Amino acid sequence: MTAFRIGIDLGGTKIEAAALDDRGAVHLRQRVPTPVGDYAGTVAAIATLVSRIESEIGAGSSVGIAIPGTIVSATGLVKNANSVWLNGKPLGRDVEAALGRPVRFANDANCFVLSEAVDGAAAGCGTVFGVILGTGVGGGIVVGGRIIVGANAITGEWGHNPLPAPQPDEWPGPPCYCGRSGCIETFLSGRGLVADHQRHRGAALDGPAIAAGAAAGDAVCRATLDRYAERLARALAGVINILDPDAIVLGGGLSSLSHLYDEVPRHWVRHIISDTIVTRLLPPVHGDSSGVRGAAWLWRPEEAG
Ligand SMILES: [Zn+2]
Repeated sequence: MTAFRIGIDLGGTKIEAAALDDRGAVHLRQRVPTPVGDYAGTVAAIATLVSRIESEIGAGSSVGIAIPGTIVSATGLVKNANSVWLNGKPLGRDVEAALGRPVRFANDANCFVLSEAVDGAAAGCGTVFGVILGTGVGGGIVVGGRIIVGANAITGEWGHNPLPAPQPDEWPGPPCYCGRSGCIETFLSGRGLVADHQRHRGAALDGPAIAAGAAAGDAVCRATLDRYAERLARALAGVINILDPDAIVLGGGLSSLSHLYDEVPRHWVRHIISDTIVTRLLPPVHGDSSGVRGAAWLWRPEEAG
């Protein structure tokens, strides 16, 4: 009998679930709207998704769940979730009670990295840094197929480091919601890109419009994308000097900027303390499926079924 792993991505607007077989093929997908603001309803929705899937594939699958924020191991309570009704709640205990089995949880950015490390862009790589470039800038680290959570559960959260080697016009940098100024996120998030374009006499364009402008030959848009790539190179070089990963996988909306994969490695050589650099910068393979896939892979092949 095939052992299935169920992966669930608990998002702010929808909860998605998928059943993966041993080889990572998706056999079944289900989704329901997230009961926003309703904690008990959220737990019930997860249980409903699992029972719907198991009514088709049979009972007894392993279950992994990608969540916003993290579950603090000392207390078992959720913290830092932007789905704020989860914060301070014993989500792990309650879901395990509802499903009658152990369930594994991980931050959604970490699940993205695990998904790409197991059988995505960085398959076969020992050390992988995954980067989210979207509404926010975050990341995660997977070594040997395992997420590194960290003592404070903040591994890979490089978005609130200061932008390295700031130029005079980058200092002190834009204010960040975290209370600091000049955080990497204030330059490299989607909003950061838009704001930087406007600061350099650009129109109020969103990210896709800036990319389209650059492709059509608009010099101001082109310069904005060049600045973005050069800053990303500086920021990633700092990570490479510490972690020395085999691969860096980009995710989030801005990972679709295709110029990054050539230009960033060209720029980062100036900031990395090695005369040869074999670290690869890669686009994601699994896209929007990375949440459910990474959640499913929280159970390793030898552990599931
Ligand atoms: Zn910040």
